[in-house]
Amino acid sequence: MKRTKILVGIMSVFLLVILSIALWPKHSDQKKEDGQLTIVASTNVYAELASTVAGDHANVSAIISKQSVSPEDFEPTNQVAKEVSKADIAFGNGLGYDAWLNKLTRSSKKTQLILVSQLLKKSDKDNPHLWNDPENMVQAAQQLADQLSKKDPDHKADYQKNAAAYKEKLTPVTEKVAALKSQLNGRVAFETESVYEYMLHDLGLTITGDAFAEAVGEESDPAPSVMKKIQEQMKNHEIDLVVQNTQTSGGDVAKLIKLAKQENLPIVKVTETSPDKTSYVDWKLSELNQIEKYIAS
Ligand SMILES: [Zn+2]
Repeated sequence: MKRTKILVGIMSVFLLVILSIALWPKHSDQKKEDGQLTIVASTNVYAELASTVAGDHANVSAIISKQSVSPEDFEPTNQVAKEVSKADIAFGNGLGYDAWLNKLTRSSKKTQLILVSQLLKKSDKDNPHLWNDPENMVQAAQQLADQLSKKDPDHKADYQKNAAAYKEKLTPVTEKVAALKSQLNGRVAFETESVYEYMLHDLGLTITGDAFAEAVGEESDPAPSVMKKIQEQMKNHEIDLVVQNTQTSGGDVAKLIKLAKQENLPIVKVTETSPDKTSYVDWKLSELNQIEKYIAS
């Protein structure tokens, strides 16, 4: 009696081991069969794009999703490094904006790096704030769909359909840009940092004081002659619109904003990164609506 009990015990343990061995690899194989890719994006803006394009076929997450964290100064933790090295795709901006993503991807054999700057064939000299041109986002979505189609051909039709849906999703922005452009063409804008350059060009505005914006972007002080010239332009009302990146401050920026207010120049407030839990479309519309208000007044 005792012997059989022991034997049954041993046999059940044995069976359990066999069962778990048999089930374990099957379980992880099944995940691969589902085609669920893992995509880690540097910012929430690109996570939103990737998630729309990948649809059900990928798990998409953003490393930076809070406005309080600057992608340009971000220092990845070990946790972030692990997350990137486990991902199938790391999706970023490029042009030095999220350089830490390149570094993390380089140390992983598994992770494929896809940069919007490369998809759009931009050069190192181009302004890195690529997302501020809606057309860039539409093109990036299509290019990403093509990349995903190569990686996961079974779902090619879905990726292509989703890229078209992303373009459709951005229509309120592209339509507003076109409508404003017809009214803004030729007017002069000054931006406190070169964050909104693409959008200002899209709107047909002429940009003045680039030297100031670039200096602020590089976290250096603009030359006194540059500062003086902008102050004169503001006083002479040769500037129609002031674009302020509210995420950058500093003495010279504060001085110019104060002067713009004294001169009653319209100030459009923009941000470098999207406000928490705000979609790309809502973010861009909130900025464009301020410009629309200025035209109306
Ligand atoms: Zn920037």
